[in-house]
Amino acid sequence: MSKPYRAATRLLRAGRPHQGWVNTPVTRASTYVFESVQSWRDTRARREQERLPSYGARGTDSTHALEDALIELEQGYRAKLYPTGQAAIATVLLAYLRAGDHVLITDAVYEPVRRFCAEHLARLGIEHTYYAPDGNGIEAMIRPNTRMIYAESPGSLTYEMPDLSRLSTAARKHGCWLAVDNTWASGLLHQPLTLGADISILAATKYLGGHADAMMGAVVANQRAWQALERATIDFGQTVGADDAFLVLRGMRTLPLRMAQHAGNAMQVANWLLARPEISRVLYPALPGDPSHAIWRRDFTGANGLLTVELADTYTESDAERLIDSLQLFGIGASWGGFESLVIPVQLRTSRALSGNLPRGPMLRLHVGLEDPQDLIADLERGLNALIQPLRTLRIS
Ligand SMILES: *Cc1c(COP(=O)(O)O)cnc(C)c1O
Repeated sequence: MSKPYRAATRLLRAGRPHQGWVNTPVTRASTYVFESVQSWRDTRARREQERLPSYGARGTDSTHALEDALIELEQGYRAKLYPTGQAAIATVLLAYLRAGDHVLITDAVYEPVRRFCAEHLARLGIEHTYYAPDGNGIEAMIRPNTRMIYAESPGSLTYEMPDLSRLSTAARKHGCWLAVDNTWASGLLHQPLTLGADISILAATKYLGGHADAMMGAVVANQRAWQALERATIDFGQTVGADDAFLVLRGMRTLPLRMAQHAGNAMQVANWLLARPEISRVLYPALPGDPSHAIWRRDFTGANGLLTVELADTYTESDAERLIDSLQLFGIGASWGGFESLVIPVQLRTSRALSGNLPRGPMLRLHVGLEDPQDLIADLERGLNALIQPLRTLRIS
C-alpha cells in the first residue's frame, strides 16, 4: 500500500472532482426535484444515514465539497456548516446539553460564548463553570451531571494551551463529550479529534476563508458525536449558501502557504517587540518563553499571525489606545485570519471569570497579516516612538 499523502497534498485534493472541472461548480439551490414519489420517498428514508441531495438546507454539491475538505483536514467522520463560528458553537452546546446538565467551559473562551452561557444555557437550566484555560485542576471540577468539557486550543487572546490528551482522558472517564474550538489552528496546525476530542469547532471566517470576505462556521465530529450534531443542525435550520461555501473552499487551497507566511511575519514582529523597552510581554506560543510553548511544540505543527502584547505597567489604557490610533498598517477591527493586519485593545478584566494571571500593563492584540514585515515593524516603531515622546522631551529639557 502506498503511503498516505501529507497534509498539504490531501488539502489540495480534498473536496474536488478528480476529473472534469478542477473546482466543484457553485450549486445555488433550494428545491431538488425527484423523478417519482418512490425516489422522493427513498431519499427521505436514507438521507439521515447518507449524504444525498434532497433539499438545499441539507446541503448542496458546494457545501458537501467544503465539508469533505474539512473532514480531511480535521481527520473527522462528518462535518456541518453554519452561518458563523458563533452559530456553530451555539449549535454544539445545544445539541449535547439538556436541562439539569453541567458544562465546564474554558475561562479563555471566545468572549461572545460567555453571554450565550449566561443567558441561554442558564435559561434552559444548564449549569456552566469556568476552568483555568490550561486545564489544571479540571478533574476535581467534574460533577456527576457534567456532560461536556468545552475547550479552546489555545484560548482566545492569551493562547493558553490545554493538554487535550489529559482533557480527553478526564472526559472519557466521566462519560462527557469533549468539544474543542480549533479556530486558532484552523484545522491545519492541530487536529483535536486525533487527540481524543469528539467535536472540533472552526470559525471558517478566519484563516480558512482567509480573505475577510465571508462569514462561516463549521463543526467536524467523530462517529460517536455525529448523529446528535446532525439532528440539532437540521432542527435549528442551520445552513450556508453555496457562494460562501465556494469562497471558503477556495481560500483553503492556499491555507498552508498563507499560514506559514503569517507565522513567519508574526515571529519577526514578536522578536522585534520583545526587544523594545515599552513592551513587557508578548504572548505567542511559538516563542520559547511562552507558557504554552511545550504543548505547542508537542501538539501543533505551526503557528499563526496572532500576537497579544502587554505594555509596561507605566503605560495607561489611553496610551495603548493612542498607540493603536497612530498605526497606519493595522486596521482597527474584529476578527482575524484575513490577509491584512489588524489591532484591537484587549481588556481581560471583563473577559475572564478567574482572577489568576491578569496583566499589569495595558494589552493589545495584533493580527500580523501578509504585508512585508519590515513595513509592519516600521509602523509599530513609529507608533511606539510617539508613545514615549513625552518622557524623552522631559529628559531632554
Ligand atoms: C472569531 C471566533 C469565533 C466566532 O466566529 P464568527 O464567525 O466571527 O462568529 C469563534 N471562536 C473563536 C476562537 C474565534 O476567534
